[in-house]
Amino acid sequence: MKIAVIGAGPVGLYAAGLLKNLYPGGRVHVYEKRSENQLSGFGYTLHDQSLYLLRVLHPDVENAILKSGTFPFTRRTLICRGNLLELDPEVSRTMPIIGIEYDNLLQVLKQHVRQAGVQLHHESAIANPDELAQEHDLVVVANGANSSFLERFRPEKVDTGLMYAWGKLDAGFDEMAMSLDTAGDIPFVCHKYPISQSATAMIVEVLEAHAGQMTQVLAQSPEMNRYFMKGAEFRKIPLCLCDKKAEGNIVCIGDAALAQYFAAGAGLYFGLMQTGLLFHQLDRMPGTIAEKLQAYNDKAREFMQYQWQPNLSLIRRKQSLLKGHQDMTDEAILNAMVADE
Ligand SMILES: Cc1cc2nc3c(=O)[nH]c(=O)nc-3n(C[C@H](O)[C@H](O)[C@H](O)COP(=O)(O)OP(=O)(O)OC[C@H]3O[C@@H](n4cnc5c(N)ncnc54)[C@H](O)[C@@H]3O)c2cc1C
Repeated sequence: MKIAVIGAGPVGLYAAGLLKNLYPGGRVHVYEKRSENQLSGFGYTLHDQSLYLLRVLHPDVENAILKSGTFPFTRRTLICRGNLLELDPEVSRTMPIIGIEYDNLLQVLKQHVRQAGVQLHHESAIANPDELAQEHDLVVVANGANSSFLERFRPEKVDTGLMYAWGKLDAGFDEMAMSLDTAGDIPFVCHKYPISQSATAMIVEVLEAHAGQMTQVLAQSPEMNRYFMKGAEFRKIPLCLCDKKAEGNIVCIGDAALAQYFAAGAGLYFGLMQTGLLFHQLDRMPGTIAEKLQAYNDKAREFMQYQWQPNLSLIRRKQSLLKGHQDMTDEAILNAMVADE
């Protein structure tokens, strides 16, 4: 069995590890366009369910994540117009619990898959998965939300009208906080969470129309400058669901198949869930690889469609919050910030 995985993000590495477990005598190659030492610099939150799924690789993986990340969060706060709001305990319960730097998470996963016998190739951007598909029995596309192969998987793309800038502060923090505030007359949502014992991630979320002005505001703020050392840069986070997940012996997973609304913890969790489902179909379904992938395609479509709807609802809520928070009650704001359907 010869397997190629495109992308050494967390989902590609998880897939490589699971596939090596499934085909111990097989050869699993991961192709990554970035260099081994290129850092992304952003922070991640992990659900306990994600930790549980990662533990399937090996208990040491979970231990290493817990060692390089934070202690579980003990406080989650929501601040609206300067007032502390109480989170619904049920919502709080489903929120992520561990913070970690994305680059540290990758280090842990890379070390594990290497030990398991997977071969990692850095600075190896793949331009055409069809070429790999001819030389391999299975090709797993896990190259993230900006996948250049998106069109072949029939993507439904959504323009959120929202933009994000993310930064990091070299100081610890002991809670996960979300606040709604204004800078002059620009409304923004700020997310803060610890990602190690001594670092905190911050993400600022604004309407696209305000991104230019907000960049200037942040540049002039000494407090914000501590987070955005090189200047705040607002970017769009793509939102996309691929209708088709498999074609012949090629399958797409992770953000390349479902790029969700920025909501802490959901991206990784659903990437791992998809990979687990793929593993199950490869392991249990009879037939050729292409037939197994087709079975995965059918199962995953239903599962992801179900997950997609709350994303669309959350966008509408965030837009209405940033456009009209002045006329909203605290309860309506709370709902718009964290609610799910
Ligand atoms: C600011 C921000 C904060 C986020 N915070 C969280 C969070 O707290 N928790 C959470 O769970 N999710 C979070 N997400 C979402 C999360 O980043 C993704 O859901 C998750 O990383 C998806 O993993 P992936 O492996 O599918 O893709 P990625 O992590 O994007 O990895 C894809 C990899 O493929 C490589 N690649 C791309 N094209 C090619 C090519 N042609 N050839 C070879 N390699 C290629 C890329 O270099 C990259 O290494 C956040 C996203 C953003 C933008």
